[in-house]
Amino acid sequence: MNPNEHELQYPWADAPDRGTWLTLRPGVHWVRMPLPFALDHINLWVLDDEIEGRAGYTLIDCGITSTATKQAWEQLFDGAFAGKPVLRVVCTHFHPDHFGLAHWLTAGGDRQRWTAPLWMTATEYAFGRYLSAGGGDNISGESAARHFARNGLGDGAALQQVRERASGYYPGMVPAVPTSFHRIYEGDQIAIGPAHAKRIFRIIVGFGHAPEHASLYCENSGEEDRLLVAGDMVLPRISTNVSVFDLEPDADPLPRYLDSLERLLLLPADTLVLPSHGKPFIGLHQRIAQQQRHHAERYAEVLAACETPQTAASIVPVLFKRNLDLHQMTFALGESLAHLHALWYQGKLERRDDAGVYHFNAAL
Ligand SMILES: [Zn+2]
Repeated sequence: MNPNEHELQYPWADAPDRGTWLTLRPGVHWVRMPLPFALDHINLWVLDDEIEGRAGYTLIDCGITSTATKQAWEQLFDGAFAGKPVLRVVCTHFHPDHFGLAHWLTAGGDRQRWTAPLWMTATEYAFGRYLSAGGGDNISGESAARHFARNGLGDGAALQQVRERASGYYPGMVPAVPTSFHRIYEGDQIAIGPAHAKRIFRIIVGFGHAPEHASLYCENSGEEDRLLVAGDMVLPRISTNVSVFDLEPDADPLPRYLDSLERLLLLPADTLVLPSHGKPFIGLHQRIAQQQRHHAERYAEVLAACETPQTAASIVPVLFKRNLDLHQMTFALGESLAHLHALWYQGKLERRDDAGVYHFNAAL
């Protein structure tokens, strides 16, 4: 949890109840959906829109595929939506809490009320479609177990659980994917809103958390309207997960994430940040500075620990001083590895293969 959360301002004290929305600005509505993890919710955004003369909504992110999420959406369709259709679904990235229900929302929900296009970056769409189709055994399963073992996770029971989580993990939350999509690119300008009040959102692609994560920034429509739909790139309470996964075992995502934060730092300080987890807040620059300090401190801790050889698994308790369940442990190990790799690529650490397990120690 963020120890400096008091530096941020939360204009809204309470999140909307399930199946309702909270209107933050004219035509900008906050929706919250449940998640079955320690992180128990995701925020989604519903924007008033008008496309080709039809009034309706653009949704940003979807929730996972679950009965609870579908029921909450149906409640919104029958209530707050006032009979208007979804015209477009934008997904920030392929993670199941953001992308899981895209197939169902673009097809009009349980009663197939409409069809709407999916807008997404190409890499995110490709990843989501591949994993939903059961592609490979990445993220979980045998390949993930090998990756964790190579990085020092020696606990047989935990490795066995990773293996067993295998094929059903992602498809369980994302059982289907729209078969076509509208590709969005870095710098694209997307007009969203009723004809008399269009907002222009600029796509800002970020790296490190997901392969081609899209945030959306709007600066127009008057004084109060600097909005950043941040996705998972900037979160007020928890730090964004930046991990090395088995699919790309030599990746160096953390410097790329920090570079992406530098770009978000160019946005105005009073921007209202709409994050995927936690509450909308003011304090973008403070939060980015906190994240920069957080990772600088972690680099120092990791470097100090590596005076004696360490594996990613032995670094986990250095960085995470609490008990972790398996889901949290896999993320923690991936994050430890992200810090080790950054220092290794900078030449501050050396990596050695010791009987099939990677050890890192301070470079001389
Ligand atoms: Zn994510």
